[in-house]
Amino acid sequence: MTHLTLDGVTKRYSDVIAVDDMNLDIEDGEFVSLIGPSGCGKSTTLETISGLTKPSDGTIRIAGEDVTDEPPKDRDIAMVFQNIALFPHMTVRENMTFGLRLKNYDQGEIDERVERAAEILQIEGMLDRMPDELSGGQRQRVAIGRAIVMDPEVFLMDEPLANLDAKLRVHMRTELQRLQQELDVTTVYVTHDQAEAMTMSDRIAIINDGELQQFAPPLECYNRPANLFVAGFVGSPSMRFVQGRVEDGQFVDPDLGVAVDVSPSTMEGPGDVTLGIRPEDVHLADHHSVSTATEPTTLEIDVVQPMGDELVVYLRPEDADTAFDSDIDDEEAVSKTDQLLMTVDPGHDLEADQTVEVVLDRSQIHLFDSASGEAITHGLEQQAEPLSR
Ligand code: ADP
Repeated sequence: MTHLTLDGVTKRYSDVIAVDDMNLDIEDGEFVSLIGPSGCGKSTTLETISGLTKPSDGTIRIAGEDVTDEPPKDRDIAMVFQNIALFPHMTVRENMTFGLRLKNYDQGEIDERVERAAEILQIEGMLDRMPDELSGGQRQRVAIGRAIVMDPEVFLMDEPLANLDAKLRVHMRTELQRLQQELDVTTVYVTHDQAEAMTMSDRIAIINDGELQQFAPPLECYNRPANLFVAGFVGSPSMRFVQGRVEDGQFVDPDLGVAVDVSPSTMEGPGDVTLGIRPEDVHLADHHSVSTATEPTTLEIDVVQPMGDELVVYLRPEDADTAFDSDIDDEEAVSKTDQLLMTVDPGHDLEADQTVEVVLDRSQIHLFDSASGEAITHGLEQQAEPLSR
């Protein structure tokens, strides 16, 4: 059973805290992705698991054994990196068997493991080729094959698909999923691509500034984000936020004019609250079948983006100044254009500057404490439950 645990793992580099008190308890056979923006500490966390970096504090256990001070070679792990780094002068077979030969496995065992990995990865016909005779996707498969033959307790992968083109990435994503189902090896996977993490993982660990924000199954992070960071990070187009206040059981905001009855039980008193709503949960008031709709709000269409299967509609307050104001700086312009978004059927005839009445689905409204960023409730019909962190 390869249970992997990080207990209070911290990594400091002089004045930078790359990883800050990370606690992860990863089950045997689980596929866990570490995601977050560039520089948030994903790779450093992975390096502490591999042994390439020693944590400043905390403990790492693989299969119950404290490996915090063990060098990488004494940990039963195999790594796949973004830079594939195959030996250019060795054939695919030689590349794949290199690690096994170093460990003095007998030839029969080596052949058996390579045949099996080659079959799983569908590279049987390429074993005698040189790396420069392979495509990018084939090279990446060889790199994964090199990890598979080691038959490790844990796979560690750092952005292994980042150098592939978009179409191949999607294809390899499916292959990795299939591989995981077949091998059932505990895997920690670093990516900044939330779509990759959402589709492949049993659970995702969302990290910001070295700190774990939420560690939960992808849909839980999507439906019940622990805080504003997770809410804005997971989902595309992302959740939109409206700053306002709750007074006398009403959420009111000064800019968009969204007024929503919030269950008084979810709030202890008046306070600054951020309302979050995803584009798919905003609907045209006269074209929806939502039983939990808010009262209509009148807004103006700023931009309509046809995506083929849907229209993404940017909404702004009625008669608002547009963001094309020469006096505002870039940061202000971004916040000004951080408007409500609505996705609708492509059949609707909508255009810029048109006034529309929209409703929000109350069951999909998220409220956050503006000061701390922590979630207060998910869905106004129900009471907030304790969040998994
Ligand atoms: P990510 O993988 O999420 O992009 P990293 O783990 O690479 O982030 O980096 C986290 C933070 O630690 C960054 O601020 C980075 O600059 C810093 N960092 C990483 N490695 C080193 C190092 N060897 N020396 C100093 N700072 C480092």
